[in-house]
Parts: sequence; structure tokens; C-alpha cells
Amino acid sequence: MAVRMDQLSWKEFAERSHQPVILPIGSTEQHGQHLPMGVDTILAECIATDLAERIDGTLMPTLSYGYKSRPQSGGGPLFPGTIDLNGSTVIAQVRDVLRELIDDGFRNILVLNAHFENEAFILEAIDLVNRETGGVATVVETNWWDPLTPHDMEAIFDGLPFPGWALEHAAVTETSLMLHYAPELVHLDRVPTDTGTSFAPAPYVRYPVRPGDVPAHGGLASPAGASAERGQLIVEACMRAVVSICEQEFVGRQPEHPALEPQVIEELKTIGTAS
Ligand SMILES: [Zn+2]
Repeated sequence: MAVRMDQLSWKEFAERSHQPVILPIGSTEQHGQHLPMGVDTILAECIATDLAERIDGTLMPTLSYGYKSRPQSGGGPLFPGTIDLNGSTVIAQVRDVLRELIDDGFRNILVLNAHFENEAFILEAIDLVNRETGGVATVVETNWWDPLTPHDMEAIFDGLPFPGWALEHAAVTETSLMLHYAPELVHLDRVPTDTGTSFAPAPYVRYPVRPGDVPAHGGLASPAGASAERGQLIVEACMRAVVSICEQEFVGRQPEHPALEPQVIEELKTIGTAS
């Protein structure tokens, strides 16, 4: 069972400050006709829960709204229910939560993102917090799809076309993950037969976004072939990779100088002596 921060007393939480803490972040946006609008939030939380179990981390409440859906990666802002935050709001929210965790004594923090458009704003928040706290905490950010290797991708897609991560919106991977974690929320019978077959994004962005810029059903690529088995493969590959990232980055990592690893400092000393 994953340890959920929102089910702990403040004292129990404080006693776990030596353990990693995981902050999942998703979005609330349309995911075509066959998936609910909470997909990114549900996946962020489910994957983070699995991770928390494996690394004995503490699972923070999931941030459920994200940066604006873009037409060429999430379908854009015109769909009812797509709740877009301004970039400054995302930065402020993530920055405040991270700062609180660091002030509470946590030094190993994993931010697990599941919404394509969030990343630049999460990284900005992490950078600002890192600067203002002198780098006392190690903060790792990853999207669930980042650590998948070409070998993993071959096994997961297994002959299905991969349109690129921006267009993998409500398509094979998200649908497969939802079939793995929450099959009762997936309605494959609602997938339009022409999903994704005609959508090729323009090589530029134009504002305002207009109806007709993206397929009316909201999907950007076909979910055909999605399955719980593929979802499980994604989860297993992601777990393997992120657990090993956490082992590498978190275990006993307390550099004297936040910006420089000990061996780099030694090398700099050598250079200094030589000149
Ligand atoms: Zn999504």
C-alpha cells in the first residue's frame, strides 16, 4: 500500500522526511469521446501510487489542473471541460508546494507529470525553488513517457504506428493505461471510425484557435489497438526506469556544493594547481 500524505497526521508526515516524496501533476481536459477528462490526473496519480509503493515514497495529493491544452498536443481550448491554467498559475502552484516540502525538511522530491503541456512550467518552478533554497533538495522531474527506451516502445506498440508524443493524445498509450488502471472509465465503442486518420498538424501555430483546427471528436491519433496488456507494459517499463532514477539520484545524495559533484570539484582543483 502506498503511503498517502493526505491520510497521515502531520507528525507521521514529518517522520517520513528522510523518504522520497512524490508530487503527481495532471490536467483536466478533453480526451476524445471514449476517455474521461481526468485521464492525465488519474494516470499521474495511479503511476505515482505504484512508484510510491516501490520506493517507499510518500504520495502527495495530485495537482489536477494543468497548463493550457494546445491544439496540436491536447486538442486546444475550445472543448467544454478543458480547464486551462495560465503558465504563471502552474509555476506559482508547483513552486509553492515544492517550497513547503523543502521547508518541511524533505530533500528528495520526484515530480511526476502526465500532461504534455505542463513540463516547461514545472521546470521553471523547480528552477526558481532550487535557486531560492540554495539547492538543498534534489528535485527530479519526469513525464511517465520520458524513460521509455526504444526497446520498450517496440514492445508496447508492437506493429502499431507511433505518431509522436504530442499526438499521442487519447490514443494508444493513454487508452491502454486507462484500460490497465480504470477500465470502467473507457468506452471503446465511442471511438469514431476515422479517429486520427486525417489529422496532420500544421508546421506553425496560429491564434486565435478556431473550430476545425483539430478533429471535432477531440482525438489526435487513433487509439485502435489499445489494450490493458499494452498499458501494463508501459507501467512496468516506467517503474523499472523511474525506480532506478530514484536510486541513482536520491540515495544518500547530499553534495557539499549544490551545483558541483565532488569529483567535479576535485577536477577543478587539479586544473587550478596545474595552472
Ligand atoms: Zn492526456
